[in-house]
Amino acid sequence: MDDKTRLVTAGRPAGDGLHYVNPPVQRASTVLFPSMAALRGPRDPIRQTGYARYGTTTSFAFEDACAAIDGADGALALPSGKAAINLTLAALLDPGDHLLMCDHVYGPTRDFCDGYLSRIGVETTYYDPLLGAGIAELLRPNTKLVFTESPGSQTFEVMDLPAISGVARQRGALVLLDNTWATGLLFKPFDHGADICLQAATKYLVGHSDAMLGVVTWKGDIGEKLVSRVNEFGAPAAPDDCYLGLRGLRSMSARLAQHEAHAFEIAKWIQDRPEVERVLHPALPDCPGHALFKRDFLGSSGLFGVVLRPVAVESVAAMLDGLRLFGMGFSWGGFESLIIPAKAKRTVTPWPLRTTDGPLLRLHIGLEHTADLKADLDAGFARLRAAARP
Ligand SMILES: *Cc1c(COP(=O)(O)O)cnc(C)c1O
Repeated sequence: MDDKTRLVTAGRPAGDGLHYVNPPVQRASTVLFPSMAALRGPRDPIRQTGYARYGTTTSFAFEDACAAIDGADGALALPSGKAAINLTLAALLDPGDHLLMCDHVYGPTRDFCDGYLSRIGVETTYYDPLLGAGIAELLRPNTKLVFTESPGSQTFEVMDLPAISGVARQRGALVLLDNTWATGLLFKPFDHGADICLQAATKYLVGHSDAMLGVVTWKGDIGEKLVSRVNEFGAPAAPDDCYLGLRGLRSMSARLAQHEAHAFEIAKWIQDRPEVERVLHPALPDCPGHALFKRDFLGSSGLFGVVLRPVAVESVAAMLDGLRLFGMGFSWGGFESLIIPAKAKRTVTPWPLRTTDGPLLRLHIGLEHTADLKADLDAGFARLRAAARP
């Protein structure tokens, strides 16, 4: 079955009696048991059904659909992408453990390593995201997890996941991947060596900027330990949000195809602008890791970076403040276009990667017509040039 068909059919359990296209939103706390024997169990260790804190039929349907798209053995919905990432790290790391973390990771993930994980005695070593099999030199006997994100937040380098996971597996460390940019449609996490995959479903899965949601999927026998430990925190995803995630998934292949085409068109157009030093987009040949992108990815999504030629921050503000179609906001992946000034926080790999120290912008290209978006940006560049004139 193709993924397009899977997105339409997965997570649609047959009801008892009437058949509707969509499953109901099951709002619940209490689950009633038909007998004392049923109340006493036993229950499935991964998908407990005796209390709505462990999930509802709505979250189970969303999880089933996510697992089908990723090719996973199981999935767990959590209330945000950040919750999915942080609760998974907290669940699998104990005091004294060592974590390898890619240097271009999503900022709040870095904050969690430097904050909570550091406080409980987990040591984090940041590594060059382009090091590939060179990760071998950084693995220690107590390295439990290797965290990857590809392409990276803000700077979009593509990682060699098969090389990293090949080494990590030999040394007994699990590989985690933040797959939010590509989703399971454009990068198959478990075909490339990930053990656990994390996503901000808030972005492309929900797809309409109207809910926060996260999901963790896994392959192999880690599921029972992962779910029981994450459940110790008691943070289930809300059924209404799971419903929105499931509804978003149904149209995700059509939306992503449009995001990909529009974003690539704008990326190439913007690359030729005199105000622009460089565009950071994995499908462009000069993006670090582009060959890996071509080898491993099935396509690109709508988010990329733009490095401007050096210019005062006031000029950038003149450009951004007057945009009509591009909104200024952080959480991307919805139907609308966004632009923000971005910052790459690094501790082991230098940024900028080349010579420029111009300002960095991050663009999300939505579903608007590209001619309208180009006109909006064109007027923005004119304001930038006017503001920069002495
Ligand atoms: C947005 C994002 C997250 C966090 O997701 P939330 O749902 O906003 O908590 C995690 N990782 C990446 C790469 C993201 O872009």
